[in-house]
Amino acid sequence: MEVDLNHWPICTREPEQVSIARTHPSRSMIVDSGKFLSLVARLLPLAILIIRPSFGQALPFPLDMPLPGVTSYDPKIPTPEEIIGHEIGTRHTVPYQVEAYFNAIAAVSDRVTLNIYAQSYEGRNLIHAIVTSPTNHARLEEIREANLRLADDSENVTDAEIENMPVVLYQGYSVHGNEASGTEAAILYLYHLAAARGPVVEDALDQIVVILDPMFNPDGRDRFTDWVNRNRGAVAVSDTQDREHNEAWPGGRTNHYWFDLNRDWMVGQHPESRGRLKTFHAWRPHVLTDHHEMGTGSTFFFQPGIPSRNNPNTPERTFELTDAIAQFHAEGLDRIGSQYYTRESFDDFFYGKGSAFPDINGSVGILFEQASSRALERDANDGVLHYAFTVRNQFAASLSTLAAGAALRTRLLTNQRDFYRESLVLADKHPIKAYVVSLDRGRTRAQKLAQLLQRHRVELYELSRDLSIDGRAYMAGEAYVIPLAQRQMRLIKSVMERTLTYQDSLFYDVSTWTLPLAHDVDYGEYRRNATNFKGDLLGDVKLDGGEIVGGRSSYAYLMPWNRYFAPRSLYRFLKAGVPVRVMMDRFSVVLNGNLTWFESGTIVIPLKGRDTPLKTYDAENVHELVEQAAENDHTLFYSVSSGLTPDGPDLGGSSTSSLTLPVIGLLTGRGISSGNAGELWHLLSERFRIPVSLLDVSRLSRNDLSKYNVIVHPGGSLDDPDSEALVKWTKDGGSLIAMSGAINWAQSNDLLEIESKSFDTDSLIQGLPYNQLDEARGAHRIGGSIFTLSIDTTHPVGFGINHSLPVFHIGSQFYEAPETPGQGLGLYSDQPLLSGYISDDKLEQLEGSAGAVAARAGKGRVIGFMDRLSFRAYWHGSQRLFLNAVFFSRAF
Ligand SMILES: [Zn+2]
Repeated sequence: MEVDLNHWPICTREPEQVSIARTHPSRSMIVDSGKFLSLVARLLPLAILIIRPSFGQALPFPLDMPLPGVTSYDPKIPTPEEIIGHEIGTRHTVPYQVEAYFNAIAAVSDRVTLNIYAQSYEGRNLIHAIVTSPTNHARLEEIREANLRLADDSENVTDAEIENMPVVLYQGYSVHGNEASGTEAAILYLYHLAAARGPVVEDALDQIVVILDPMFNPDGRDRFTDWVNRNRGAVAVSDTQDREHNEAWPGGRTNHYWFDLNRDWMVGQHPESRGRLKTFHAWRPHVLTDHHEMGTGSTFFFQPGIPSRNNPNTPERTFELTDAIAQFHAEGLDRIGSQYYTRESFDDFFYGKGSAFPDINGSVGILFEQASSRALERDANDGVLHYAFTVRNQFAASLSTLAAGAALRTRLLTNQRDFYRESLVLADKHPIKAYVVSLDRGRTRAQKLAQLLQRHRVELYELSRDLSIDGRAYMAGEAYVIPLAQRQMRLIKSVMERTLTYQDSLFYDVSTWTLPLAHDVDYGEYRRNATNFKGDLLGDVKLDGGEIVGGRSSYAYLMPWNRYFAPRSLYRFLKAGVPVRVMMDRFSVVLNGNLTWFESGTIVIPLKGRDTPLKTYDAENVHELVEQAAENDHTLFYSVSSGLTPDGPDLGGSSTSSLTLPVIGLLTGRGISSGNAGELWHLLSERFRIPVSLLDVSRLSRNDLSKYNVIVHPGGSLDDPDSEALVKWTKDGGSLIAMSGAINWAQSNDLLEIESKSFDTDSLIQGLPYNQLDEARGAHRIGGSIFTLSIDTTHPVGFGINHSLPVFHIGSQFYEAPETPGQGLGLYSDQPLLSGYISDDKLEQLEGSAGAVAARAGKGRVIGFMDRLSFRAYWHGSQRLFLNAVFFSRAF
């Protein structure tokens, strides 16, 4: 790149200050002390990119980013400005510009190739560049395959082989879309890797394959960058009350459906994560970095995090490597004089996060957190924080990651090999030899669990003979066997186990994520040799099991309310105007000469209804819909030829309730929890294909709410007129579903008669010294644990649900069981803790508390849920309780 000396005045650095860098020589980045002027010339091009602001202001930090060993930049490689049109740090770069730049570099550089690995919900490409030396590129597939042997053939990979293998770094940026500096740094980093000439970068690229993913969350980034760029005038404003600094609801942190993608690495419910998991497992990188931002008042954080919160399933060696890598970040940031810290916050506990997920896959995850400017400039306690400054730190951490990769290469590779070598030994010592998951009760949910595990390279087998574990029967061919003696032993253990003991009582995020409980499947822990019932290895599990038993009907179809996607099927019939009914009691039918029992909640789908001028369907439509539903929703149908039943109510009697098409409104907007709302929006619209109107909470009093028969309040505050409108709508006959954060609202607006339980934390922590108070108080919070809810399955909202339902709970407010008979739809059982952390005092209080309530209010209904029923989209079991409320609220 040509050096434009006109920009030099931005630099305020004096020559002697450079010697500071010389006093901290890193293992791989030695500043050439004798040639200051040539260093200046080398540093200049990049420095200009970083810090020349678009509004002509000089930034307050010195231009001192040492890039030792770089002799020049290849002029054939376009700078970001040449492609994007602005210098990095002077505007917020929007997703299409990022993609354009990566494309442009890949087109001209023999060090860079580009892959599109997924598409976001909004249709944006997720991309990563593979950056390595041209020689490595020529044998890239060979490198990748050799690397896979570290896990798959770990016993046979020798130290001598490792000596000659490149290390793979997966460097990822800005998973939270409004933590935007990471992506800008990724652009500069790509320029640097592609264009820098000189021994340091060239040697590094010989030894390293970088998977450079500039934006983990393009939809969120688009929301955020659009906001800041269009709320800025000709000069930057650092006032935090200014519009640029205050994003509109829901902000750009999350993805399209308002999910935090940095909680999705383990459960992989979204296309962004699924694409990344494919990349991750195709390459099995040795280090994965995750660049974030934190509060403006902070400095810069890199892992290690709080040591007492390390996940015990992660081997100690991983934390030692984390420490070793940290040395390089420290040196890189020392050199440019940036402040930072480690160990005091954040943790390596929850494997759903990008910085911890690698740790359970033989890799090392590293979290970076940069104090956020959000806008181009932001008032901070110690002056003005500039976007360009934040970019610069992220860039420095990218370089120090590269340096660490080169210096620790063989250690990192050996770590992965040994991680997988140990798995069979650990499995041998572990008391559980296999998990067995039944397909019997929740076929689709069990299959979804199997698919999730397969995304992580877990091997599942058929069950080859009938088996009993802890008194529960598992039938051959109707269950999966997951032996622990396999490569992903540690990962399997960490997602299947229930955890009840903890070293620390505080958590940055949830304390548990037991997947079989989330999927509400019957499963067992087998403790003897598993080989004698392990059948064939399963290929990719597909959802199946849709069936029309008895073929084409002449009278009606019955759909049991047991399959996961039954609500999607039901919506098809209601949408078509078919007068379906729900059976309020169990009954029997003679099928093929056999008496067969059906549970309450079974849906009756008649071929004929009353002939009215409004009738929109005929028998042919019904047959077609049944076929579509069986095929696409994997639901079960039974054809019956008569409405008369041997036992229980007949199909057309008063023990049935006719169902209405739900027309759903979901409260959204400022004051409402976007995370809670997004989970329900995603559930209804994306997964169950049920339309839902997103109602802005500030317009409720002006909206015509009579259009809706179901409104969901996901939690949050409402202004008085909007509250009044919602209360009136409910009492006039609407069905209000109040999620955990809305229970208090429903209570204070006299829609629910329910009493909060009080808990006096202060009396428990009385007398403790000041520096122990936070922790002691925090120990009584519930950051996310799993409990058993005992469901009244005779209540319509409990139809089809197992009596003991695992639910995920966040928050420490509990409620008394309702006094009015029939309202206590779900109560936490006597020993409710299934997995996770809760203090003994809170656990005692939870027993017998209300977890789900259903009440009448005027002509309307109010159904309240105290748990996060669709938490992070993977709580497939408890989601059904919410969907029951949507469809069956008029049946009680
Ligand atoms: Zn973040």
